Amino acid sequence: MTFDEYQEKALTTALRHEMPLMDKTIWAMGVAGEAGEVVEKWKKIVAYKEGKISEEDMMGLAKELGDVVWYVAVFAHSLGLSFDAIMQQNLHKLADRKKRGTTKGEGDNR
Ligand SMILES: [Mg+2]
Repeated sequence: MTFDEYQEKALTTALRHEMPLMDKTIWAMGVAGEAGEVVEKWKKIVAYKEGKISEEDMMGLAKELGDVVWYVAVFAHSLGLSFDAIMQQNLHKLADRKKRGTTKGEGDNR
């Protein structure tokens, strides 16, 4: 499955409102909310389980990571962005940074 194919399938489960701005806002907030759920699960593993990940923990992390990806895919589509293009651009950007030795540092355009 390509990222664009995933994006199309994700859209079939997206709820929509009358105002497109409302959809975009909810999906953008969903990215942050689900990322928070990933970090919360990880916090509990570190804080209460000394970093030992059970099978149940791993399944929970995988589900929340999937939720993050779903929101990214749907939000990106609402902006007219291809998920394939986003991922290719991201890999290109990171490979370029590595080649130029600017992986560490600050700034979006380094
Ligand atoms: Mg979730």
